[in-house]
Amino acid sequence: MSKQIQVSGLDAYYGSHKAIEDVSMTIEPRSITAFIGPSGCGKSTFLRTLNRMHEVVPGARVEGKVLLDGEDLYDPDVEPVSVRRMIGMVFQRPNPFPTMSVYENVAAGLRLNGRIPKPELDDLVEDSLKGANLWNEVKNRLNEPGARLSGGQQQRLCIARAIAVKPEVLLMDEPCSALDPISTLAIEELMSKLKNEYTIVIVTHNMQQAARVSDRTAFFNLAAQGQPGKVIEMDETSRIFTSPSYQATRDYITGRFG
Ligand code: ADP
Repeated sequence: MSKQIQVSGLDAYYGSHKAIEDVSMTIEPRSITAFIGPSGCGKSTFLRTLNRMHEVVPGARVEGKVLLDGEDLYDPDVEPVSVRRMIGMVFQRPNPFPTMSVYENVAAGLRLNGRIPKPELDDLVEDSLKGANLWNEVKNRLNEPGARLSGGQQQRLCIARAIAVKPEVLLMDEPCSALDPISTLAIEELMSKLKNEYTIVIVTHNMQQAARVSDRTAFFNLAAQGQPGKVIEMDETSRIFTSPSYQATRDYITGRFG
């Protein structure tokens, strides 16, 4: 349940605007890869190219290759919907289906795969909530609307919903930016647990978070305003934060810009 992503020569456009240029990288399974860099340098755009969410924006397109364990995700025979099932996503603002119950939030994705007998569905929902470190807090509130949970619980509910369908990869776009420090810590602990089973990629503006949770870090930057974003360097997280190869990386991680 954890696959490698290999990207080569990837460009992403919004209409005629090239947002990222010539990104190549390998994202290893059973690890956390962090994307850092100033706003607007294409981290979220790149993340969304990894599960074909980028092309949902009218006029948006991608050039280059993304392979999941060698399978080309942009092959004309590949359905974007199946890619999004294999590569789940968690967003900045927790977005549970607000009027649906906690239970239904997790069950909804599972039901798309066909009818599941109730006892089996109950078990899958429980396993997913346990997997997201949320079960103990919600086991007596399964019928309450998802929107009634705290922000941090809602984010873990979204993670439970994402892992319920057993994806290969979890993409997280600033998953803690709307959360308080205690909820942030809970999500970080959860990420560290989930990396035993999943390939995890996270965009974060929080340097400490990247340093605490990730195994490898890619630093994105713009050559100049109006230019497309690029990956300046990617390495073991400890190396990026102690002895990066580029001055721009050093300036960013020491807070001199961005
Ligand atoms: P980051 O995640 O690093 O802050 P983004 O990926 O959000 O960067 O943005 C990269 C570039 O793409 C920016 O120039 C931004 O204005 C542009 N962009 C992002 N989303 C859209 C969109 N939906 N339509 C047009 N341009 C967009």
